[in-house]
Amino acid sequence: MLDRYNRKINYLRVSVTDRCNLRCRYCMPESGIRLMPHKDILSYDEITEVVRTAVDMGVDKVRITGGEPLVRKGITELVRMISKIEGIKDLGMTTNGIMLPKYAKELKNAGLHRVNISLDSMDPEKYKTITRVGSLHDALKGIDAALDAGLTPVKINCVVDKNAMEPEAQKVKAFADSKGLQIRFIPQMDLHKGTFGKVIGGSGGHCASCNRLRLTPDGMVKPCLFSDIEYSVRELGAKQALIMAVDNKPSSGSSSQKSSFYNIGG
Ligand code: SAM
Ligand code: SF4
Repeated sequence: MLDRYNRKINYLRVSVTDRCNLRCRYCMPESGIRLMPHKDILSYDEITEVVRTAVDMGVDKVRITGGEPLVRKGITELVRMISKIEGIKDLGMTTNGIMLPKYAKELKNAGLHRVNISLDSMDPEKYKTITRVGSLHDALKGIDAALDAGLTPVKINCVVDKNAMEPEAQKVKAFADSKGLQIRFIPQMDLHKGTFGKVIGGSGGHCASCNRLRLTPDGMVKPCLFSDIEYSVRELGAKQALIMAVDNKPSSGSSSQKSSFYNIGG
């Protein structure tokens, strides 16, 4: 699929839930979130149908995200359903890793290729402060579980205030280096204010070469994280929603008032 600006769109990020077992300060509002009603959340059959349609249209890279994808019941089954779709070259997941000791092997057996795991600090106290409720120990066990299960390459997502030279980020980098893991530094963004930057070590945040579409848990296809343009697969059907999203993908991001990281998945 080519958009109006000749960008090849071949990457679909699928957010399967707005729920999460952590409460990261930069992601979830302090006051808590209003959860999507269950009836609004796409079933696994509906998600698989959207992915299959997208693959027919040229998508070959799919990432499952959230919220925290591993808190959605039966997530391994969704991975199995998506991995059976012919034409996907790269099937990944972004997770905080906390539940990977339980799921890593199942996910690998279900056909998941690889995981990106979020890790912003190597200090247990700071990790808890950032995530409000998380344990660094659990996240590190999740990384080991992913490696043991062969969900490789395991990549680390590290959110930074401004740049990768910050001391916490450098400590996470030293850890990643010691384990032979790739690391991507994500500048902290604000969807509502429209502040975003390029991901260091990854492809995100570079509008001129953006190849992504996003599917929200309630079935909206979004052509851009930093825009409120969205098309409902339940109202329009998967194909039409995908076509309209590609045709109306903005040349560059501005801001989004409707969405948050915990429902579109970053
Ligand atoms: N729960 C999973 C996790 O944390 O990896 C997947 C969903 S999370 C929304 C996806 C990515 O978005 C994570 O790497 C997270 O660090 C990042 N993220 C969340 N809020 C962000 C923000 N305000 N600015 C930059 N990245 C953010
Ligand atoms: Fe949850 Fe991921 Fe958001 Fe943290 S960044 S609150 S782990 S969805």
